[in-house]
Amino acid sequence: MAKGITKRSQDYSRWYLDIVAAADMAEHSSVKGCMVIKPTGYALWEQIQRRLDDMFKETGHVNAYFPLFIPESYLKKEAEHVEGFAPECAVVTHGGGKKLEEPLVVRPTSETIIWSTYQKWIQSYRDLPILINQWANVVRWEMRTRLFLRTTEFLWQEGHTAHATHEEAEKETRLMLDVYRRFAEEYMAIPVWTGVKTDSEKFAGALHTYCIEAMMQDRKALQAGTSHNLGQNFAKAFDVKFQNEQGDLEYVYATSWGVSTRLIGAIIMTHSDDNGLVIPPRLAPLKVVLVPIWRDEEQQKKVVERAQKLTENWKSHISFKVDDRDQYRPGYKFNEWEKKGVPIRLELGPRDLENNSVVAVRRDTGEKITLSQDGLLDNLTDLLEEIQTNLYERALELRNKGTFIEDDFDTFKKKIEDPGGFFWVHWCGKTDCETVFQETSKATIRLVPLDGEKQNGQCMVCGQPSNERVLVAKAY
Ligand SMILES: [Zn+2]
Repeated sequence: MAKGITKRSQDYSRWYLDIVAAADMAEHSSVKGCMVIKPTGYALWEQIQRRLDDMFKETGHVNAYFPLFIPESYLKKEAEHVEGFAPECAVVTHGGGKKLEEPLVVRPTSETIIWSTYQKWIQSYRDLPILINQWANVVRWEMRTRLFLRTTEFLWQEGHTAHATHEEAEKETRLMLDVYRRFAEEYMAIPVWTGVKTDSEKFAGALHTYCIEAMMQDRKALQAGTSHNLGQNFAKAFDVKFQNEQGDLEYVYATSWGVSTRLIGAIIMTHSDDNGLVIPPRLAPLKVVLVPIWRDEEQQKKVVERAQKLTENWKSHISFKVDDRDQYRPGYKFNEWEKKGVPIRLELGPRDLENNSVVAVRRDTGEKITLSQDGLLDNLTDLLEEIQTNLYERALELRNKGTFIEDDFDTFKKKIEDPGGFFWVHWCGKTDCETVFQETSKATIRLVPLDGEKQNGQCMVCGQPSNERVLVAKAY
């Protein structure tokens, strides 16, 4: 166990905070509920942004930016939306030393300001679709905060699209859900379930909300992304009509979708261990660190020279660092890069110079592998992919072990406490029974699966007929 990191088996919540601190990712600021994202944490967010931004653009989206402030009256235009968000809004009442005529809300999400703008942009079917994404910060007043997972201000992206038909909006909602699923699985190395939220868990103002749900190492669920079909609700609230091809006026169809800095919390809680952070190679800001090892100045000169020569052509292929700081000993450096989650550490000592070798240490398994200095870059590239695959498979195995099919309510109530996990159970579809789940077990229906297998059964709570199983778990 690394110094200063609580073991996961001892106290999982403490462990999480210790990892954030040990990897130097973020800290609490002097403003309650707001965090300072430090360079190591922000570099990971930048990797997430880049990969996702590419995927958004590949699917036809463009970026734009809308104001941070929203007139309070806008928020009130969509009844469900204001009810859902008003309690957690920060409101600006004064500006430039004067009381404002109308208070301004600091955006908790941007549907209202964006649809008030789309009202000016859309007249005809020729103006559609609009496929816009925004990278921004939002504020939701939180009482109990946790770095990356729940903070008053956080960073995210929010897509806001406008369409001529319900079918097209639904297709977009599902497309973005699939983008999130692929990103989670292929980059974050996190297996996810996709599905639709129940009415009581959907986004305030949406027809329905799709989501991806992942299992953390403590077997709790984390909602890692949502995609909402908003129907015509916001178009009606802001009077956004268009003339369709037949010349009739119709309200526009909307979607919105988002992921946030919460994803960093998901990466930590899925892959990291008692020695520190573990980052999947495809998202690691730094993929390889080479630590030259020497005893005297003569050796130092030789190994550092060889390290530089070995890596001289790597720049355009791989992000790496030669850690030749001479004020720290190798053990200190090993520990630092291990805590920060760099996927591969290379050790190069005087004996390696004689043997034309280098020792590679995998962050995911701790395994030491002796590699030849010839063809090293290719071997490292392969090894990084192997680590990526191993992390995904490890997470999948953990999820499989922690997932149960359950029909008996009493057994469920015991098992959700110990050992905990994901439970596929029959549910009749009534909110009353959903509330019973919540009140008796603190678990929630995470999703109704998409295209799930139909199967006759009885609601675990009331015994009424059910034709498919839903996913129930405790969640972050
Ligand atoms: Zn029921």
